[in-house]
Amino acid sequence: MGFAERWISWIMFCVSSVEYRVLLNGQPNGLIVPGRGLRQGTSISIWTDPWVPAQFPRPALSNGPFKDPTLRLPHLIDRRTNSWRKDLLAQHFDPVDIALIEAIPLSSCSKADYLGWHFTKTGKYTVKSGYKTERVDVKGPFRAFGSGLVITPLLARVWKVKCPPKLQHFMWQVLSGCISVSVNLRRWGLGCDVVCTWCEMEEENINHAIFLCPPTRQVWALAHVLVGPQLFPTNSVYANVDHFLDSKNPGSQVQAFPWLMWYIWKARNTCVFENQTERPNETVQVAEGEALSWQEAQVNVEGEEFNSTLTCLAPGYRRDLSLPPVFTRQRCFVDASWKATDVFTGAGWCCISSQGSPPVLGVTNFRRSLSPLHAEVEAFIWAMRCMIGHNFRDVVFLTDCSDLVKMVYFLTDWPAFATYLDDIRIDREEFSLFSLLYVSRNANVRTDSLARQARMSLHHVLFVDNFLTN
Ligand SMILES: [Zn+2]
Repeated sequence: MGFAERWISWIMFCVSSVEYRVLLNGQPNGLIVPGRGLRQGTSISIWTDPWVPAQFPRPALSNGPFKDPTLRLPHLIDRRTNSWRKDLLAQHFDPVDIALIEAIPLSSCSKADYLGWHFTKTGKYTVKSGYKTERVDVKGPFRAFGSGLVITPLLARVWKVKCPPKLQHFMWQVLSGCISVSVNLRRWGLGCDVVCTWCEMEEENINHAIFLCPPTRQVWALAHVLVGPQLFPTNSVYANVDHFLDSKNPGSQVQAFPWLMWYIWKARNTCVFENQTERPNETVQVAEGEALSWQEAQVNVEGEEFNSTLTCLAPGYRRDLSLPPVFTRQRCFVDASWKATDVFTGAGWCCISSQGSPPVLGVTNFRRSLSPLHAEVEAFIWAMRCMIGHNFRDVVFLTDCSDLVKMVYFLTDWPAFATYLDDIRIDREEFSLFSLLYVSRNANVRTDSLARQARMSLHHVLFVDNFLTN
């Protein structure tokens, strides 16, 4: 995603603090201690910190009355192989905990341990999950910050826009006021200058950053959005987004608008964090290019041609079957299979290209992951590495796990998976073009069955090769 470290640290400041209390009727209600996430393990106390990923994270259980006070987490990790030392685990911990500890992913990079929120699967604290933990659900219309205007219908429309989930989510954040513009950072207690870094003229609120700042206005004009004093852009961020969302408005003709918003925000971040100015025509070019290639990929994946792609994946694959229209990138279908009672997690991928060469497949299994979502992430990372190993650097990955797609596009929103996301961020750099798209389960049956077979195997399995050649 190219987020600068400073940006990440701000986000982490906003999502992590040592404890959370839920306010009910103005009274703090119960103390909720978040579990500790693991990177180097240096700051974690084995017997008192909640680092074991049980349903409610807790300190480790010893296998007897003695708890070695000198034992530190780094002792338990073999840094050469980046794995847990089974001998020491057996020596110190209860068997129940050994299984849980072995499933904790170990990071190869040296960052500080982090705190995560364990009541949402992302590890990010949300007001809703906080209330749920206290068995209270808050329902009601979503009101715009400041004005009290009900914007629920507008927010609902965001999820119908044809674009990747990360862009839908971004638009949702724009509307609900959750973008880290200077005005918000000040409100969240980060003492910073509220003047826009880009134009150095006005206060930077969300509407200014995305729609009103002079370089931003230029982007919209170059992208052929109808501009006019009463029309667009106005002083209301809601009206400006609605200019594109409502099919009655002229802006709805501009199909690249979610990408334009996103790349405007990226250009703004490049300016703030890297002190580099991107030219408005460059922003338009990148945004429109990305929009186009995404739309093309959708036609290929969801259109009628897709059935023939599936036929190609079937065992009776024949070359003379009509292949989908030319697509230049590799397509890699990924899936994982997980069952609470099984020893292994299964992972599979299947990579096809339009050059008529046979599909390349990969199947493996490894110790059971912490959850089905952990399994999906681990399978995806393995598939990425296999693609790098095959020197496929221009790949569209396809998954039927929508949470995986969200995670990969919003790395910082999933602190519970931070260790994996570090790896994904590094591996992504190896690709010249990279995307991850969501497909239905039906479109992913072949990979699903590979993963399932690997999961049910009694032995370790690892297979990467062409084997659907006839
Ligand atoms: Zn500005």
